[in-house]
Amino acid sequence: MATHTHSTAAILSIGDELTLGQKLDTNAQWLSSQLSNRGVVPRVHITLADGLEDLTERIKDLAKTHDLVVMTGGLGPTADDLTRLALANAMGNELVEDAEALAALIARFERAGRTMAEANKVQALRPVNAQCLPNPMGTAPGLHATIGSSDVYCLPGPPRENRPMFENHLLPKLRPERLVLTRVLPTVGVGESTVADLLGDLMSRDRNPLVGTTASSSVVSVRMRYEGSDETEGQRLLDETEAEVRRIIGEHVFANQDQSLAKTVVELMIEQDKTLATVESCTGGMIGQEITDIPGSSAAYVGGFVTYTNQMKIEQVGVSQHSLNEHGAVSREVCLEMALGGQERSGADYSVSVTGIAGPGGGTEEKPVGTVWIGLVGPDGKEDVRRFMFAGDRSLIRSRSATMALAMLWGMLAGKPRIELFWESAD
Ligand code: AMP
Ligand code: MG
Repeated sequence: MATHTHSTAAILSIGDELTLGQKLDTNAQWLSSQLSNRGVVPRVHITLADGLEDLTERIKDLAKTHDLVVMTGGLGPTADDLTRLALANAMGNELVEDAEALAALIARFERAGRTMAEANKVQALRPVNAQCLPNPMGTAPGLHATIGSSDVYCLPGPPRENRPMFENHLLPKLRPERLVLTRVLPTVGVGESTVADLLGDLMSRDRNPLVGTTASSSVVSVRMRYEGSDETEGQRLLDETEAEVRRIIGEHVFANQDQSLAKTVVELMIEQDKTLATVESCTGGMIGQEITDIPGSSAAYVGGFVTYTNQMKIEQVGVSQHSLNEHGAVSREVCLEMALGGQERSGADYSVSVTGIAGPGGGTEEKPVGTVWIGLVGPDGKEDVRRFMFAGDRSLIRSRSATMALAMLWGMLAGKPRIELFWESAD
């Protein structure tokens, strides 16, 4: 094992499925965030098709220029899995059978009551001077080798094997040059450029801790990153920075760590011993899906109505024909009746409803595509009904609707004064 610090790192992802666009290279992203959050910052991502010569040359090149090379994929038992051989070639090594790895492989098949195919035996091969890394989640052991002064790791491709392998084998051996401490404050209701404007100088690139934002599904996360050598000093600087961020946009911060809005909502519901029902038209169950993605949500979520047609709105949650005639399905009145009907018929404490025009057809001058009403009713007659005017295509309008519904729920549960949400439009 090389002994100096890992000040430069490279990620090398291998597989035709990646270069052909059949699969997204999620390993590179996950590995890079894991590494960079610990002070080892990857400088390059390379994605290569399955091919022995190319692969061998790349391994050699990357090992010359990086202290750490993390490879993923190509460790399977088939002819297109060339990582072992390429590593051996790059090291100038022969492949040998690793007795322990072979025993583990045989035992794995025996436990599963299957006989091992001859092809699987190649998975117990390693370059003479490399070490096999046991893989409890799959048949392919990983590999570790030293080439020159570079640590080279080969991890299996499937993320459910790759991630624990990284955590078990690579993480304990990581030698960051500097200490990195990070914090994340997720916000909702403000656009990313507004967040940047509000944070102003806090986001200057030469600041430590560095403050940056990322946006995903209408959630803008403020990320803080300290780099240095002193843990106490780092935490103190992060405390100061966090306080400053909270002073500026604290009312939009919905969690003190990287987590989804749905998770925060479920946590608050459980904490307050309250229940929720959903009544969805244009989102067709997306809010219910986001909520039920959270383990333990059954303690709070009673279920939902997907009421797409007027008929279903009438039959399932008691919307009045009169309101539908007078105001149309996309209106404050119908939205509120949906929420109230859902609350009454389910017996839940809270009920959230969505009705809107996701497009591309169906818009009018008065109600263009992107017009969405979201209604929320809670205990003690609490009510919040808002109109949104979302930009974007059908899928974006639907996902933004779901996020804003969760944002309104969070606001009511957290007992917030009414927060103006991005996309909201006075009626
Ligand atoms: P392999 O280790 O090359 O046999 O890869 C096995 C499977 O893992 C592939 O079919 C992909 O589904 C998945 N996989 C491989 N590389 C990646 C990657 N970089 N990101 C996400 N999934 C991957
Ligand atoms: Mg492959």
